[in-house]
Amino acid sequence: MDLSQNVKTVEERLAAAARAAGRDPAEITLCAATKVQTDDTIRAAIAAGIRLCGENRVQELTAHLEANAYAGAEVHFIGHLQTNKVKQVVGKVSLIHSVDSDRLLQAIEVQADRLGLIQDILLEVNVAREESKGGCLPEALPALAELAAGCPHVRLRGLMAIPPVSTVSGANRKYFAQMRHFLVDIIGKMSDNQSVIDCLSMGMSADYEDAVAEGATLVRVGTALFGPRPPVGPRI
Ligand SMILES: *Cc1c(COP(=O)(O)O)cnc(C)c1O
Repeated sequence: MDLSQNVKTVEERLAAAARAAGRDPAEITLCAATKVQTDDTIRAAIAAGIRLCGENRVQELTAHLEANAYAGAEVHFIGHLQTNKVKQVVGKVSLIHSVDSDRLLQAIEVQADRLGLIQDILLEVNVAREESKGGCLPEALPALAELAAGCPHVRLRGLMAIPPVSTVSGANRKYFAQMRHFLVDIIGKMSDNQSVIDCLSMGMSADYEDAVAEGATLVRVGTALFGPRPPVGPRI
């Protein structure tokens, strides 16, 4: 596996997808999904040009931070976040993608207040209404966005989704399009607010080009950069 070549290939395909959609490639940020990768692999990815890492598990985030593995890149938290682990994440990452409940939002607000900072967040939407998947249901989104707007130590930056694993090309385009509509709705409702809501985090190795075609501003790519991962255990 040639990590530098993979980074180059994904960046080229992203840029081509952007241009095909009449978009400026500079509007789209590549986030390397670094779950299960070692400190050294993360360093190699950054040396190959990765400027943003997305971490899934609090334990891995903490270990990589301690090892200073992300030096030269920004870090986001993209995995499911439990309320009791908020302390290990707030203030340590520049964006939390996976806020999906009042309870989690409030726990982030409390911790950000304690630390005297403002935490940028995305609201995660269970756009395909899948059972046992994170994210709020689409109909719960307006109330959650309203609540976020009322949290002085939280800044709502946009939305995130993890649609079903796509096996057929184009299968997730409808979900990506729905997400774009949700974002437009939220922007409309929050127009009197100071928040800059401009982030649409969607698209993974199998479907990031479709996501870009439908307006993604951030794609989270793991396998296409790092190769296949060993099978994962249960979510801890
Ligand atoms: C693992 C992961 C990705 C990347 O998935 P790939 O299919 O390997 O590109 C993106 N987002 C989240 C939240 C992930 O957990």
